[in-house]
Order: sequence, then C-alpha cells, then structure tokens
Amino acid sequence: MEVSFHEEIKALRLGQGQTFHGEGILAITKALLQSGVSYVGGYQGAPVSHLLDVMVQARPYMDELGVHVEACSNEASAAAMLGASIHYPVRGAVTWKSIVGTNVAADALSNLSSPGVTGGVLIVVGEDYGEGASVIQERTHAFALKSGMCLLDPRPDLPQMVHMVEKGFELSEASHMPVILELRIRACHVRGSFEARDNVAPHWSKQNLIPDPTRFDYMRLAHPPVTFVHEKLKSQERIPAARRFITEQGLNETFAGSEHADLGLIVQGGLYNTLIRSLQQFGLADAFGQSSLAIHVLNVTWPLVPEALTRFCAGKQAVLLLEEGQPEYIEQELALALRRQDLQTPLHGKDMLPSGGEYTAEVMASGLMAFLERHRPSAVPESTRQWLQGNAARRQAVQQALGTPLPARPPGMCIGCPERPVFSALKLAQQDVGPVHISGDIGCHALATFEPFSVGHSILGYGMSLASRAGVSPLMKRRVLSVMGDGGFWHNGLLTGVQSALFNGDDAVLLIFKNGYTSATGTQDIINTPEDTAKDAAGDKRQSLVHTNQTIESTLKGLGVQWLRTVHTYHVEEMKATLTEAFTTGFQGLKVIVAEGECQLERQRRIKPWLASLQARGERVERVKYGVDEDVCNGDHACIRLSGCPTLTLKDNPDPLKVDPVATVIDGCVGCGLCGANAHAATLCPSFYRAEVVQNARWPERLKGRLQAAARRLLQKA
Ligand code: SF4
Ligand code: SF4
Repeated sequence: MEVSFHEEIKALRLGQGQTFHGEGILAITKALLQSGVSYVGGYQGAPVSHLLDVMVQARPYMDELGVHVEACSNEASAAAMLGASIHYPVRGAVTWKSIVGTNVAADALSNLSSPGVTGGVLIVVGEDYGEGASVIQERTHAFALKSGMCLLDPRPDLPQMVHMVEKGFELSEASHMPVILELRIRACHVRGSFEARDNVAPHWSKQNLIPDPTRFDYMRLAHPPVTFVHEKLKSQERIPAARRFITEQGLNETFAGSEHADLGLIVQGGLYNTLIRSLQQFGLADAFGQSSLAIHVLNVTWPLVPEALTRFCAGKQAVLLLEEGQPEYIEQELALALRRQDLQTPLHGKDMLPSGGEYTAEVMASGLMAFLERHRPSAVPESTRQWLQGNAARRQAVQQALGTPLPARPPGMCIGCPERPVFSALKLAQQDVGPVHISGDIGCHALATFEPFSVGHSILGYGMSLASRAGVSPLMKRRVLSVMGDGGFWHNGLLTGVQSALFNGDDAVLLIFKNGYTSATGTQDIINTPEDTAKDAAGDKRQSLVHTNQTIESTLKGLGVQWLRTVHTYHVEEMKATLTEAFTTGFQGLKVIVAEGECQLERQRRIKPWLASLQARGERVERVKYGVDEDVCNGDHACIRLSGCPTLTLKDNPDPLKVDPVATVIDGCVGCGLCGANAHAATLCPSFYRAEVVQNARWPERLKGRLQAAARRLLQKA
C-alpha cells in the first residue's frame, strides 16, 4: 500500500486532554482504541476503507497496545473473527462496505447472533447509499432486523460518534447482541474535533494471553437444539435488555423545539445534519441546530424503544418521520406502536418523502414543505417555496435547452491503466471470432462497461464472474468470457468460480487481471502483491519492481487448471491471439488467461518520487511520452475508440484545408505504450510516435542530440 497514513497514526496516539481534529472515520478508529478493543479486522471498501488501512499501517503501535489487526480475505472471514467474543470477555470490531459486504458476511453474522456474545462486538459498516454510492441500493437495516443485531446510526458530529462507539460496546455486552454501527458516506467524511481520552490497552490481548480455553458450553454453539432456545432469548431477554440500556443511557436524543414544538420530527441520526440544513431553508433552525420543531434523533435505529417514541408523539399536532431508503421499516414499527397505544397523532413519512434515494437537503425540504403546508402553513416562508420551485424550473430549462437530459459523466480507468489494453485486444479478438457473452465482475475492470468498450453483460458480485456464467455458457454457441480482478479472485472467485468450474468440467474462459492490488478499494496489498525489495546503487527502493509473484499461477496449477497462459497486458497483439485461442481451442476444460500488468496508479506513486530523487541528484532520468503526428493523422479516430485513454483526445485540425479534428496526446501521458501497440495490432494509421525525454543527459547523448538537430536544420533548408 503506497498511501501513507503517518499523520493519521499520530492522531491515534492522542491522549487525555488532547484535541483530535479530522474525519469521522478516523474518529471512529480512535474511539475503538479508547474502548479497549482487543482485535480488529475487516475488508476494505468505500467509505470505511481508511479504518482498516490506518490500523494496518499502525501495526507497531497496535502491537504496543496488544491489539490484533487482521486484514481479512473477505467480509465473511472478518465476521467470523467475531467468534472470539462469543465466549471470551474481549471486545472486537470489524469493518466493511455495506450492503455488499454484509451480504457476504451474512452467514457468519447469523451464526454469531444466534448464541450471542460475551465481549462487546461492533461492526462498522459504510452505508454506501445515495449520491456517490457504488453498489446496489439496499439497507443494512434488514440484516439487523432478521438476525437480531442492534443498529446504531449516530448523529454526524465527532463527539457524538465517538460516544456511540464507546456505548455501542457497552450495549453489546448488556444485551449480548452484536452491534452494527452504520456510517453514511457523509458521516465518514464529516470533519470536526473532539476531546480525546487515553487509549485503553485491552485486558486480554497479545500482551496478556488468555491462559486456558473456556469450558465447553453447548449453549454457545449455533447448532440445534439450542438454536431454538437462542431464538426465544432474542425476543425475551436480549431485545428488552437492549431497550433498557438505550433508555437508561439516553442514546437517542430529544430536542424540545420552540415556537412549533407541537410539531414533531423523528429522524435517523445519520440524517440529522441534513435535516437541520433543510430547516434552515425555512428559517426554522439556526446554524447551531436550534430547531423550532421538536426533534427525536434515533442514534439507535434498531431496536426501537416504543415507549420513548409514543411519549414523543403524544400530544403532537403531527409527526413527520425522515427515514432514508426502502422498505420503511421504522415507519411501519412506529405506526404499530402508535396503534397499540391508541394514539391518534397523525404520522407522515413516505407519503411526503420519496420511497428511495438519498435524502439531500433539497429532498428533505420538499417533504418538510408538504408536512408544513398540511399542518402549519403559516410556518412556510414564500422564499422557500420560490427556492424549491426555482430549482425545478432551472432543471427543466436546462433539459429543454439541451433537448435531452444532462449527459452522464461516468468514471474511467486511470491514464495508462494496464487493464485498458486487454479490452482493446478483446474488441479486436471479437472481430475475428464474433461477439461473445462477457460475465463482468467488481473492480476497476468494471469501468470497461462504459464507453468506448461497453463490455460486460452481467455483474453478480465480487469474484462471481466465473460462477455467474455457469448457467449461460452451456447454452451459448460461442464460449463465454469471465473477467475478474486479482482482488476478486482471492475474495471469492477461486472457490465459487474456479473450483466449481473444475469440479464440473466446465468449458469456460476466465481472464484474471493481475495488477497486484485490490485497486478499486484503494490499492490495498493482497497475497500476490509483488515484493518491493529492489534497490538501486544509492540504496533507493522501488525503482524496478518486477512482477515475479506467481501466487495466482501456482494456485491455479495446484488446483488442476491445465490450460493457463500469462500475458503482459500491454502486448495487445499477443493478448488478442491468446483470447482468440481460448475462444477457439479444442481444449474443453477451464482456460485461464492471467493478464499481468501493475496498477498504473500504484506504479506512478512508486516511481515518481524515485525519478524526482534521481533528477535532484543530477542523475540521468528518461521518461517516455507518446504523441500524434498531426500531419499523418487521417481524422478517423479509431485509436480513441480502441483505447479510451483520457490523454488521447481531439484538437482542431491545423491544416486549413481539412475540417475533421485530429487526435492528440495531451499532457499526462505516462508512456504506457498502448497507443503504439494498438496502432500495430489494429493496423491503424501510422501517426503515433514515441519520444524519450531525457533529463540530466550525459555528454555523448548531448553531443548526439546537437548533431541530430544540426542535420535536421540542414535537411529542412534543403
Ligand atoms: S487504480 Fe490501477 S487498476 Fe484501477 S483504473 Fe487506475 S491504474 Fe487501472
Ligand atoms: S501511451 Fe497512449 S494510452 Fe498510454 S498513457 Fe500515453 S496516451 Fe495514454
């Protein structure tokens, strides 16, 4: 991992009386240490990647405290770690991206929730929902409900978030339930400060080992017949215990309101800041959060405490519930609580707010407008009505002017990405063999689903591409291609895909991108990350990292894969030929192509400082750049359609007799060579040139350069 968390690690060491400044997710990380956590694990994914990344880099400090840190191979293995807290009084925390990570972890979570825990368990999930999300739009809430896990959704304010971590462990211990702490994207990145406390070295730890295993206790197994007892314990003991703790500790907050205190708002804690921003649009709240309406903040969204909710609703003119996402679990439970108490307070929620999608300030303001117009029209300023109407009118005007909705701006692969050439080769191979069905996967290569490649018929989960073609490939005339990253391969693909295909003798083609990292989640190291030990004469590391790690290949061979090729990704012709062979060979079993090429983002992070240090020492530095000879470019732009590199673009044709723009390579080219490789493989116009930019050139090179320049001048005069 190349990103350094040096400063963040310093923040983790802050003690009593010092002030922590920083992002929400780092505050959560610090709070884990203040809570005396014994072990931490997880699988990275936005928006919570930093938690584990920082912990992994802080291992020497974690060792001092005795805290064990495990970078798990997937979310299931992270969830299974929590088994340590079933018997032993040790606190544990794991983290991942939800909803996808929770899906993967679901089996272990069910088996953990059934017997319950002794030591406090906190599962920190990044609720990747709404604008900026990168996964399916579902709610973690469903898992808390079905398995019986408490769900925290803290108000995004650093002291409150830290408080909820510390109380979350206590809640888990008081109720014997695992506790999920969900953090939306904005909560992870909210900045603020809090007064730190000393970190607590856990009692049982790597520094103070548990002397003996606990006695055998069948009740602690998620195994019949005791699972029937567990089910009863959940409803008869654990949930009531959790409700008692939530009430006694005041985990949910009520703000009384002022001139409109007879109107109530109930809000998920994570939405509180946006709600205050929306109320400000009506002049109903100030910048410090003082609201005219009464607000009940659910920092714990499950289990709900019916008595507290009905107490808040009793006597109100009306109540609006702000619950993001669907289904409306909280609204249904609240309506039931009101009904059971025979309370007639009008309850609104999804009837005034959208059923799905992020509740931004504007969305909430629209819901508040409907609520206030119904129950307190005098509280609606004309300016707010105009603001909302103005926003809608502007959007409509833009759409009318364009004639279409605003064009999407999808993300793309980095400049020089090693995965791009493979999709160029795939385009070319399909020209020969015909179109093939392509099973896509999660990872940077999923960006090939956008233009100019538009590749991938399905994405069924991380590492699932080979498994997801099992029903398709027997029905297709041509062979199906499954595309997978090395991150996905280790996360899931090896077992669900490769093992299954071999066992069933499937005629399948798998292409694995071996770029050396789980790049899409933040370029974390994996088991096949190449060793980084090469040194130059001055002792500098990292100048000539060579991909020699054969972990994937040896694993595949060990499992029995017989048709296996490793091809460098930038060798487009060779990749095209290998793909064509895989699609047409008489070999009927699993065919695997390992596409080898280091993640360019990581490569640049590695070599740029090294090149700068060489240059500063006066040593020779050579950089490769590609360019387009505008006199030769025929204006066809096939190179752009075949590459998609952001630095390969268009400019006005300098020839006054031609109208078509020419291709051009703008600043930023990293000299990956794909332009040249594509030009050869697809027999494009010969307009690309390769230039070597040499700094601190030696005297023979400078002399040669002067002679060449003089010769050029002579020829130009001739
Ligand atoms: S992070 Fe690496 S693998 Fe992902 S798009 Fe960028 S260069 Fe390619
Ligand atoms: S060589 Fe071509 S594909 Fe590679 S970075 Fe430069 S412009 Fe992009």
